[in-house]
Amino acid sequence: MSKQTRSTCPYCGVGCGVIISTEGAQITGVRGDPDHPANYGRLCTKGSTLALTASAAITEQTRLLQPMQRLNRKSEPKATASAVSWNHAMDFAASGFSKIIAEHGPDAVGFYISGQLLTEDYYVFNKLAKGLLGTNNVDTNSRLCMSSAVAGYKQTLGADAPPTCYDDVKHAECIFIVGSNTAYAHPVLFRRIEDAKAANPQLKIIFCDPRRTDTAEIADLYLPIQPGTDVSLFNGMLHIMLWEGWLDNAYIRNHTTGFEALKATVRDYTPELVAETCGIKKDDLMLAAKMFATSSATLSLYCQGLNQSSSGTAKNAALINLHLATAQIGKPGAGPFSLTGQPNAMGGREVGGLANLISGHRDMANPEHRAEVAALWGVDSVPDKPGKSAVEMFQAAADGEIKALWIACTNPVQSMPDQATVRRALERAELVVVQEAFATAATCDWADILLPATTWGEKTGTVTNSERRISRVRSAVAAPGQTRHDWAIVVDFAQRIEAKTGREKTLFPYSVIKPELGVETIWNEHRESTRGRDLDITGMSYAMLEASPQQWPLTEGQSTGKARLYEDAVFPTPDGKARFVNTVYKPVAEPRESRFPFSLTTGRLRDQWHGMTRTGTLGRLFGHVAEPSVQMNPQDMARRLLVEGALVHVTSKRGSIVVPVQASNEIAPSQAFIAMHWGEEYLSGLSAAGTPLAGVNALTTSAYCPSSKQPELKHATVKIIQAEMP
Ligand code: SF4
Repeated sequence: MSKQTRSTCPYCGVGCGVIISTEGAQITGVRGDPDHPANYGRLCTKGSTLALTASAAITEQTRLLQPMQRLNRKSEPKATASAVSWNHAMDFAASGFSKIIAEHGPDAVGFYISGQLLTEDYYVFNKLAKGLLGTNNVDTNSRLCMSSAVAGYKQTLGADAPPTCYDDVKHAECIFIVGSNTAYAHPVLFRRIEDAKAANPQLKIIFCDPRRTDTAEIADLYLPIQPGTDVSLFNGMLHIMLWEGWLDNAYIRNHTTGFEALKATVRDYTPELVAETCGIKKDDLMLAAKMFATSSATLSLYCQGLNQSSSGTAKNAALINLHLATAQIGKPGAGPFSLTGQPNAMGGREVGGLANLISGHRDMANPEHRAEVAALWGVDSVPDKPGKSAVEMFQAAADGEIKALWIACTNPVQSMPDQATVRRALERAELVVVQEAFATAATCDWADILLPATTWGEKTGTVTNSERRISRVRSAVAAPGQTRHDWAIVVDFAQRIEAKTGREKTLFPYSVIKPELGVETIWNEHRESTRGRDLDITGMSYAMLEASPQQWPLTEGQSTGKARLYEDAVFPTPDGKARFVNTVYKPVAEPRESRFPFSLTTGRLRDQWHGMTRTGTLGRLFGHVAEPSVQMNPQDMARRLLVEGALVHVTSKRGSIVVPVQASNEIAPSQAFIAMHWGEEYLSGLSAAGTPLAGVNALTTSAYCPSSKQPELKHATVKIIQAEMP
């Protein structure tokens, strides 16, 4: 008999509700949940094929189903791993970490986790590193995705809290989409924008991106800016708004600080100069400023084009400056709305899942915050030494400073920039533990110990989507093989470490066996850690979430969360005022030059997800794009006598890959695009030193934003040279 289970899609940050149908131990179907406020029943191609990618046949072929050990990894990389018992694997990992910590201190180990983990998983990983082991070396692939948005919100509005909601799309009179191919990366949200446009002829859409992607189809105005020039654009728009008298001076005076310094800066950003810097028409710049400032409600939607940048925080802040200067915030249809790439990038931020954060949106650098969390966890202190961000962690391992790495639910061998450094880090590390659901993830090849984890359809917990809405993730089928839940693996490891140190009372009392100490116990502890914070969710029980997903904050005693923040224009800063940030335009870290004349950008395809461990198992998801390519402007191809499909070497200062070239009018001259998804099965290459690499991140740079430490995955300079005659 068929059973129905409500859950949440594991792919993007839209966070669509799904209903999973099961027959016995099999997932037989997935449909959109008509009652879920993120999608009201809609799903995109990825979400609607979830049942197929979770079939028994695919599970058997792709999943890691038992603990494995690779005895001779250092001498024979990629050697076959052998099955071992859970007890052996966990003992080996615990002994290895204990030995390294005893010899070199706790900062000799690092945890690199994932925005695809559930909030409860994230919470225990952070408690393990920061509470038990005494290191802040715990960071996440959300560093590659959202850390500039976090820093931008905190610098301007005082808290990492997107102030808007999906419903604002239908209230907006102007939508400014910038650095986001929403049509591909957040398809169900894009359907809402299309609906709003169809329902409201007054709605104007500005789309700003170096690539003229499918998202441009819906735009009234397209701004094809040069890569990395966003701060110049936003400052230029503010210059025009000032000059034209389109600012809300009363709002600036009463609810913000810092405007005078910014005003002095943006005086230099004349329309002529900005149009030239950004490579757009001056009239289009003027029109964009007018549409943004004079509409009754302007909503900005933005994603990796702003975040994955060496100026990521400045880009976020400069855009938020525009909203504050025009009072386009705190009212229906208005505000800056960062879209999260991953399903639970937001939940990870809530538990302090970055090296510089700690539970409940607290800052690791703040002694009061550290003391509050230490008291909550029942430990003497949490470490004050800054932890390593993602790029820093792999660099430290490559340098021999970090000696043990634990990688969970992410695939850095493919997804981190500057692959040569990541591989050096994994080669040099004394101990690499990989906790993973899919044996096909390339990082598995670098592990001493492989720990099989459950995945979507099998696990229980919560995730938070882009609009601060927390939804339940529920298990519909039993865990296959010997897989275990991510949080339970951490708890087992933590308790073994505690046993070695003689700790009497465990910090990790959670249990898979005793329901009263199950995953909900972790959730309740996390809820308590948010008491009195901007994201207070003390009122949000599992029972409440059973009835309906809720947005935070939702404090004890309340029955619904807050759809929109700052409607009272009071901000979570010491004086209650929002802060203008004096943003100055800085060019990309690696400007084009004669030897490397192309700006390479990376991004998503419509039907693939991350490293394709799940979506790459289905033939039908290759119907949209069947194989990797480097997309170039037809004029550039003609100048180089390149024909469609010719194999080319795409080479940066760090590595080189061979890929067919594809003509595309989406791409401006002197630019190129390669999708991020293709791994070593599809796209092989070499480092500058001649070691084998794979995927577009053989080419990308690990230069990062000094505030957010988010790397500039959106821009690297390359040369493109024909590999062989067609
Ligand atoms: Fe899943 Fe995102 Fe598609 Fe919704 S839009 S079904 S969350 S991938």
